[in-house]
Amino acid sequence: MVSPVVYFTLKDLAQSNPPQTSAAACVRSCVLSVCVPGHVCADFSFVVVFDHRVFVNRSLTLENIKCYGFDMDYTMAMYKSPDYESLGFELIRDRMVSVGYPHELLRYTYDPSFPTRGLVIDTTYGNLLKVDSNGNILICSHGFSFLKGEDIQAYYPNKFIQRGNTDRYYILNTLFNLSETYLYTCLVDFFTRCTRYTNLPTGYQHGDLFMSYRSMFQDVRDAMDFIHDTGTLKERTIKNLDKYVVKDPNLTVLLNRIKEVAKVFLATNSDYNYTEAIMKYLLESNIKPKKSWRSFFDLVVVDTRKPLFFAEGTVLRQVDTDTGKLRIGTYTGDLAHGTVYSGGSSDIVCDLLKVKGMDILYVGDHIFGDILKSKKRQGWKTFLVVPELTKELQVWEDKKNLFEELKHLDIFLADLYKMDMSYGQMGSLLRSGSRQTLFASQLMRYADLYSSTCLNLLHYPFNYLFIAPPVLVKYNISLDGCTSPHSLSSRPQKQHCHDE
Ligand SMILES: [Mg+2]
Repeated sequence: MVSPVVYFTLKDLAQSNPPQTSAAACVRSCVLSVCVPGHVCADFSFVVVFDHRVFVNRSLTLENIKCYGFDMDYTMAMYKSPDYESLGFELIRDRMVSVGYPHELLRYTYDPSFPTRGLVIDTTYGNLLKVDSNGNILICSHGFSFLKGEDIQAYYPNKFIQRGNTDRYYILNTLFNLSETYLYTCLVDFFTRCTRYTNLPTGYQHGDLFMSYRSMFQDVRDAMDFIHDTGTLKERTIKNLDKYVVKDPNLTVLLNRIKEVAKVFLATNSDYNYTEAIMKYLLESNIKPKKSWRSFFDLVVVDTRKPLFFAEGTVLRQVDTDTGKLRIGTYTGDLAHGTVYSGGSSDIVCDLLKVKGMDILYVGDHIFGDILKSKKRQGWKTFLVVPELTKELQVWEDKKNLFEELKHLDIFLADLYKMDMSYGQMGSLLRSGSRQTLFASQLMRYADLYSSTCLNLLHYPFNYLFIAPPVLVKYNISLDGCTSPHSLSSRPQKQHCHDE
């Protein structure tokens, strides 16, 4: 049982004058109790500033959570954007050139305003698509050319794709995918415009050589695997941690607070040596007296191979933390504090920590590997980290009056377009105009909670009840904390489509 400590920004509240009645306080703050919009009620619990909110899809009581699990990459370790994506882009671009792609590709540099997570590559026609949960096409680009209605229909007569056809359509689910999304777009742009190559419907002809969009895509994937498997990306990251990894002292505060009320584990697909370097950087240098980063966790599991980890998993081995090597044989003992394990499965984690799946809140950034699988296969509670939310919220807040107006006035579609462009060339991660993206629908279906960073948990007491308001069916996304204090969205609709 935790004491009802209030972790909130009293300063923010105090600065509004008078704080209890100022409607202005609601512009940048979200009142997280049942109250009259614009006013803080007598029974108010606490205030969380705009950017620090945790959003709710399904009600969840933190008091019932007995164990918190964390992913590492893009969850505990936030990579600095766009430096980190630029590094990934340059490494795969250089790899493509080294395996025979034209040197002219070296002229391309990463443009963070172009790719958005959740886009789909059509490997048959080389197009980049933004689709909704049913596969209806919202945006289509070929290289850097955005196609309009008739051109889209020439490719897709019903402006629709069977996104369950995973042989043809590849969904770019993770933040790691941003650099390859952009590189693939650069390739299509280059070959389409280069006069040495003839454009054909499914690829390019050069003399007696044919290069299909599909083979180009496979080459980009192989280059991506190459920089991950050979450790090139990790090596460059570790060499310059200050440039690529966000260090926030609040992470140690969060972990210390969680440890007072629950167990905590780390489950990462990264190997031990990389995990050691990153976690040491994040947790050790802030502590006096110095203590090992491992002491923040009851259990550390590396090489988890999620999503396999949430199914049959792999052999559980102990890691020799002096050498980074794995001990042979399957580990069968009890949980030994400070020990690092490799592989295993979510079932083994529950056994070692002596907790049930329903008592775990798992925090991760991968909608498929972290959230969908832990929810569907194990019934864990889920918290999705969506770093893009910071910008999404900002644009929404800045343009919400415009959006409200546009809901009633179709003639201002051009303004709607301008609003979408505020997010980047591919628009918002969550919506296109008033329609939700595939990513948004998966987020609503599988993430109980979501926020721009796991550190936002610090702004809520550990006995907090996150409440999703009851709704009949669909609830339009509202980021207005004054009218919808608890939730960005509600219980998701049933979908008749594949999610795997
Ligand atoms: Mg991750």
